[in-house]
Amino acid sequence: QDTVLAELLASRIKDVPDYPKPGVLFKDIAPLLADAEAFGALTRALADRAAALGATKVVGLEARGFVLAAPAAVAAGLGFVPIRKKGKLPGEVFARSYDLEYGSATLEVQCDAFAPGERVLVVDDVLATGGTLGASLDLVREAGALLAGVVVLMELSFLPGRERLLPHLAGAPLEAL
Ligand code: AMP
Repeated sequence: QDTVLAELLASRIKDVPDYPKPGVLFKDIAPLLADAEAFGALTRALADRAAALGATKVVGLEARGFVLAAPAAVAAGLGFVPIRKKGKLPGEVFARSYDLEYGSATLEVQCDAFAPGERVLVVDDVLATGGTLGASLDLVREAGALLAGVVVLMELSFLPGRERLLPHLAGAPLEAL
């Protein structure tokens, strides 16, 4: 079942060499999103994970994480919470910075995003170096929620992303579909 899903999803992801710069193999999910069968199967798989993990909210990471997490939240009967790039969310926010190849980036979540004791499933499209997810998991905890688990569409297993994420996971499961 999981293998059938993985093959369907993989068949709808396009490898684009040297985008957005030389040496990067970009994983384009546009063909997957445009395919109702594949996007539907992905949405149901994410919603199933949310239910199995006992999540009470689904968190998506700007920008492609939004597109995957929001329909999954609705399908699971749960609310959605965005983690956004710096300066996009009104009101009080928690912020975390992480290192990029050149410079750094900052992610934010609204301080009142979660009620006490909420269990969160975090969703993104690609786990590469793990910087984005690492900062996001810290934000979820800082905002007072419990991390139920992380599901990504793809993991670039030639990069040490999973290893870098381990301390941020603190025992929560990480799955790549
Ligand atoms: P990282 O923080 O290095 O794990 O990068 C993860 C974020 O960057 C995700 O939100 C992805 O959308 C994006 N990303 C990183 N590498 C790729 C890639 N090869 N193809 C598509 N998106 C990527």
